Amino acid sequence: FNVPVPVNEAINSYAPGTKERELLQSALKEARAKELDIPMYIGGKEVRTNNKGRITPPHDHQHLLATYSKGEKKHVEDAINAALTAKSNWENLAWEHRAAIFLKAADLIAGPYRYKINAATMLGQSKNAFQAEIDAACELIDFLRFNVAYMAEIYQQQPPVSPRGSWNRVEQRPLEGFVFALTPFNFTAIAGNLPSSAAMMGNVVVWKPSNTQIYAANVIMEVFKEAGLPDGVINLVYVSGPEAGEVIFSHPDFAGIHFTGSTGVFQDIWKTVGNNIHKFKTYPRIVGETGGKDFILVDGTADTQVAATAILRGAFEYQGQKCSAASRVYIAKSNWPAIKEQLLNDLATLKMGPTEDFTNFINAVIDEKSFDNLARYIDQAKKDRGVEIIAGGNYDKSKGYFIEPTVLVVDDPKYTTMCEELFGPVLTVYVYDDNKFDEILDIIDTTSIYALTGAFISQDRYAIEKATQKLRNAAGNFYINDKCTGAVVGQQPFGGARGSGTNDKAGSMINLLRWVSPRTIKETF
Ligand code: GLU
Repeated sequence: FNVPVPVNEAINSYAPGTKERELLQSALKEARAKELDIPMYIGGKEVRTNNKGRITPPHDHQHLLATYSKGEKKHVEDAINAALTAKSNWENLAWEHRAAIFLKAADLIAGPYRYKINAATMLGQSKNAFQAEIDAACELIDFLRFNVAYMAEIYQQQPPVSPRGSWNRVEQRPLEGFVFALTPFNFTAIAGNLPSSAAMMGNVVVWKPSNTQIYAANVIMEVFKEAGLPDGVINLVYVSGPEAGEVIFSHPDFAGIHFTGSTGVFQDIWKTVGNNIHKFKTYPRIVGETGGKDFILVDGTADTQVAATAILRGAFEYQGQKCSAASRVYIAKSNWPAIKEQLLNDLATLKMGPTEDFTNFINAVIDEKSFDNLARYIDQAKKDRGVEIIAGGNYDKSKGYFIEPTVLVVDDPKYTTMCEELFGPVLTVYVYDDNKFDEILDIIDTTSIYALTGAFISQDRYAIEKATQKLRNAAGNFYINDKCTGAVVGQQPFGGARGSGTNDKAGSMINLLRWVSPRTIKETF
C-alpha cells in the first residue's frame, strides 16, 4: 500500500457569502434544533443509562443541546473486556487495513462530516468558526493522514543487518493489553488523535473524554464507525475520573495511557500507576501532554506590529484556553509604548459573544468552574499593588461564561499570574529595561516550571541565537517572530517537557513508536 503523501488540509475561511458559511450555519441550526441523547459506545454497541448528564453551550448555558448517559465502574470493566475481546482480530490485521480505516475517517471529516464536527465544536466547546475549522476539521484530518504515513514508515523500516547464515528481524508488536485515552475539552483534534494513534498501531482502546467535550466526541465516534472501525477497538465511556482510574489503573492488562489534560491529574496518574506497578503484566506506557505557562519575549529590535499581533492572537484566540496560549509576556521598555498602543487598539475591535454570530472573535470560557477561577485571579489583581489592568477586567456569567480579554501589567516578573497557569483570556505583561536582556532570559528559564511553548520577537540575529540557546529547555515548541500557538501537524511536532508532559510530540513518529513494543527475532540457518 503506497500511502498517499500527506498534505495539510486547506482551511476554509467561512467568509460572508461563501457556500461553506451557509453549510456551517445550517449545521449549527440543525444541531441546535434537536436535543441528542448521547450514548456510550462499548463493543460497538450504544449503551445508555438512566443517569443523564447535561450538555449546554458554554456561551448559552440555559440551552440544552444534549444529554449523555453517565456510566459507572461496571461500564469501564465492560469497555476493557470489549477491547480485549476485539484485540486479537485487530492486531492480526495487516497494517494496511488499519491505514485504510483511518484514511477513510480523514476523508469523511474533510467531506460530509466537516460542518457537523465544526458545529459540534462551536456549540459544545464555544470555539468560533475559524478556531473550530483549524481544530476539529484541519488538525484532526492532518493527525489522521500524517499518522498513517508515519505508521507506514514504521512498518516498512529497513530490517536490521543479517550476517550470512542468519535472519534478523524486528516485529512492531502492539502493546500487550489495552490503552486508556483521556482527552481534554480544548481540542476536538486531540480527542480524535489520542485514541486513534494508539489504535492505528494495533492497540485496543478505552477512551474517556472530558465531560465538556462529549458533544464533539460523539461525532468523532460516528466517523470512526462509518469509516469501518471494527467493534470494540475504541470504546467510549463517560465516567468520573476517579471511577475510571480505580478500574483501569489496577487492571493487569493496563498497557498504556495517552493523556492530554492538567498537570495535577497527570501527576496523580503517575503516582497511582507507580503504586500499582506490581499489578500490571507490563510496564505501562505513560504519554501525556499537560499544562503550560507559555511566554512571548519581545526585545528592543522587534517589529512592534508583529509583536502586537503575536501577543493578541497567542493570548486570546479560543479565550486563551490552548495549552500553548501566551499568558506571560516580557517586553523591552523601548518598544512597550508602540506595542501597547497597537495591542489596545486591536483589542478594542474584538467582539465577544456566542459562536453562532461569526463576527465574535471572543466566545465563552468552558464552564463555571473555569469562569470562577479566572474571576478570582482578576479580582485579586484589582486589589494587589504593583498591578495595573490596562484592558478588560470585566466578566459576566448570566447567559454564558464570558470573560473580557484582560491585560495586566505587573512590576514583579514573579507575580502570581506570571507563574501560575490560568487557562483563560488573562495575559500578564512585564516590561524590562532593554539592557537587562540577559537577566530576563534567566528569569524566563528559571520560572518555566512548565515548558510547552514560547516565542521570541526580535530582528537581532545574535539575540535570536542567544535566546534560542538560553531557553533551550524552557519550551518544547519555540517560535521566532510568530505567536506561540497553532502548531501544524507535520510542520511543528507538538509537545513540551518539564511540567508540560512527556514530550512525545503529538502527530509524529516518536508518538506512534510509544504504542508498539518491538520484538527482535534472530534465526540461524
Ligand atoms: N497544538 C496546539 C497549539 O499548538 C495546542 C494543543 C493544546 O492546547 O493541547 O496551539
